[in-house]
Amino acid sequence: MLEKTIFCVIHSPWILNLVPSNIYKYIRNALSSKNFKKFLIGEIMFCFSVQSAKKEEFIDITAKVRSLVESTGIKNGLACVFVPHTTCGLTINENADPDVRADILMALRKAIPDNLAFAHLEGNSTAHIKASLMGSSVNLIVEKGQLQLGTWQGVFLCEFDGPRTRKVWVQMIETD
Ligand code: ZN
Repeated sequence: MLEKTIFCVIHSPWILNLVPSNIYKYIRNALSSKNFKKFLIGEIMFCFSVQSAKKEEFIDITAKVRSLVESTGIKNGLACVFVPHTTCGLTINENADPDVRADILMALRKAIPDNLAFAHLEGNSTAHIKASLMGSSVNLIVEKGQLQLGTWQGVFLCEFDGPRTRKVWVQMIETD
């Protein structure tokens, strides 16, 4: 009965993104079958929202990603972090000096000027191009239950067409 209930929850597209990571951990720990556990890990995708406040900014999402990944109880594997948007991206870079993020934004503005003859009628071609340059996903290593990042590294959502509410999806791949 418990297993049937869990299947319903996980396969319902309406609430797929609403399975909180602590519930996931509970489900995961409650099940003893290794195969069923593997199935669950492949099926659950986590989601959280990020609200940007400016047209362009880098938002540090490291703490959110770390707490989500570590709360699932996954020991070793990968966390694929992905943004389902065309005018924001993700990157990993320095989390100590905020001037680094400001410099990256400044250099992107210089490299992709607003006054080119863009054809895209929405008028936000620079945001699309900058998002492609940053990329839509980053893969993070999870080892011994912890997210592995360098001392000075943070994970940033790169907003190029804000302010908006953005979604971040996280899919975990457990290797053992
Ligand atoms: Zn557009």
